[in-house]
Amino acid sequence: MLRIIHMLRLPPFTYLSPRSLTEAVTMIANQGPQDAMLVAGGTDLYPNMKRRQFEPKTLVGLRQLRALRELTGNARDGLTIGAGLTLTHVSQQRDMVAGYPALATAAGLVSTPQLRNMGTIGGNLCVDTRCNYYNQTYWWRQAIGFCMKKDGETCWVAPGSSRCWAVSSSDTAPVLMALNAQVRLVGPAGERLLPVENLYRDDGIVYLGKRHDEILTHILVPPGAGLAMAYVKVRRRGAFDFPILGVAVALRRDDTGICTEARVVLGAVASSPLLAAEAAAVLVGQRLTPEVIDTAAQVAFRPAKPLDNTDLTLSYRKKMVRVHVTRVLRQLAGLPVAPRR
Ligand SMILES: Cc1cc2nc3c(=O)[nH]c(=O)nc-3n(C[C@H](O)[C@H](O)[C@H](O)COP(=O)(O)OP(=O)(O)OC[C@H]3O[C@@H](n4cnc5c(N)ncnc54)[C@H](O)[C@@H]3O)c2cc1C
Ligand code: SF4
Repeated sequence: MLRIIHMLRLPPFTYLSPRSLTEAVTMIANQGPQDAMLVAGGTDLYPNMKRRQFEPKTLVGLRQLRALRELTGNARDGLTIGAGLTLTHVSQQRDMVAGYPALATAAGLVSTPQLRNMGTIGGNLCVDTRCNYYNQTYWWRQAIGFCMKKDGETCWVAPGSSRCWAVSSSDTAPVLMALNAQVRLVGPAGERLLPVENLYRDDGIVYLGKRHDEILTHILVPPGAGLAMAYVKVRRRGAFDFPILGVAVALRRDDTGICTEARVVLGAVASSPLLAAEAAAVLVGQRLTPEVIDTAAQVAFRPAKPLDNTDLTLSYRKKMVRVHVTRVLRQLAGLPVAPRR
């Protein structure tokens, strides 16, 4: 059988390499949103450009910016993580592993070792939303007349819909949301702090609540000491794959075992990470008994409305919300967890 393999090539573009944050902000601000984009590790952006999902004329590279590779603080006082730190660094750094194990786990579950060596935590928070009809070559997309997210008009997932439902696919975003973290954004108008949950919009196209000329410089994580936390990722292949569900939980208990704070966040079930506030409310004021956990998992299951636009069936993915919220909570409660099949 003759197989023709098309080498996907990058389109031509100008690469700018600013030496300071001020220079980087000026460079990106001087160009329109369609003309220029920021690039960190390039592990998501370059493949997307090869498929013409993005066609910027200019890229502003962030790799030379030392400020983005800072890491200060500790689990007792809170951490400030530079957005340019690699996922390998985040997954292996001592304070992160000991003080924020869910974050280290999530970073270590992103793609492959090679991509984690290049990919950054800032890029992971800003990673593009995904869809079976969109993450395809230009020719594949052309054959179906493209879709609303790029070059077309129709949404093939929900043809009557006026919006895009592409899926938020970041592994670290749900964890950072569960930890109540904030991001520092620096743009031409200065600097601002935004809770991670406000960084996202439930829209597959305009999925970030930041301006195109704002650079995510740091992630500010509150004290992790005393928090119990975990992240579980569901994907087809254990070696590497984007999440089709992520469950992140962070909670605090008093000396008697009563839960005083809880945050439950679901990834990959909507165009933004989903805060399951009602499930968290079930936990607060209670001990993590099997009955309380079952109720919380049942409540978390309701707002999750995955659509038929990523791997495996939507009914399976929906069912897995309850299964994995239960497993994470049982793990944190020290109860036996059903083995994975
Ligand atoms: C085969 C494969 C498997 C993958 N699997 C996973 C996976 O399992 N889970 C997962 O979460 N991701 C996965 N990814 C996506 C990607 O590798 C990671 O999300 C990675 O963390 C992206 O970081 P980066 O630095 O390479 O971002 P880039 O590709 O450089 O940028 C991604 C986006 O973020 C923007 N950006 C980057 N840095 C900043 C910043 N500091 N401020 C503002 N905007 C910024 C860019 O403009 C771009 O829009 C996979 C990619 C591939 C190719
Ligand atoms: S959800 Fe619809 S508009 Fe969005 S990428 Fe998929 S097919 Fe395109």
